[in-house]
Formats: sequence, C-alpha cells, structure tokens
Amino acid sequence: MSAGITYCRCHCAGCGSHFTSLEAYDRHRSGPMSDRRCTFPDGAKLVERIGTCRLDDPTRPLHGVTIYEHESAARAREAFRGIGGRETARTERISASGGGR
Ligand SMILES: [Zn+2]
Ligand SMILES: [Zn+2]
Repeated sequence: MSAGITYCRCHCAGCGSHFTSLEAYDRHRSGPMSDRRCTFPDGAKLVERIGTCRLDDPTRPLHGVTIYEHESAARAREAFRGIGGRETARTERISASGGGR
C-alpha cells in the first residue's frame, strides 16, 4: 500500500485541472449555474498537491500532476481562524517524507 499519494478524483473538462473531491472542483468555479467558469476565485481556498491522475486513461496514469485539494480537507487539525480579516498565514512546515539533505 502506498499511503499519502494524492489521486485525482474529479477532472475538469473545462480547464483540465485535477481535484481531490467534488467540493474542491466546485470551488474553482464561480458564477451562476448557467454560466459557470473556471476562475480559481480568491476565496476558493484550494491547496495544490502533487499527485497522480488516472481518470484520463487508467492504463496510463499521469504522475506528478498538480491536483487541487480543498483547504478544509488539507488542514484537518489546524484550528486557526483569520485574524481581523486578511489571513496571510501560510503553512511553511514541510511534512513531506523523504527529504534527505
Ligand atoms: Zn475548470
Ligand atoms: Zn485528473
């Protein structure tokens, strides 16, 4: 079992982006239902991940693609709320395994 790999679950035909969930997918679009567009709005709160997409062709998965994950899913343990309004806090802690340096 290879844990920790992000897989594309939802593929956008419009802009070709990859998403880990339908919610994340929904976040990158804005506008009324009749005219939804892929805009990656400011408040989308999407986090970029590098993962694998198998939706296009299961026999030839794409590795190392950027997959967007919704922030709420990404920060399960972080209970920070924006202070005052603008939140510029960024997660700079690198939790990736295998950083031999
Ligand atoms: Zn899109
Ligand atoms: Zn995909």
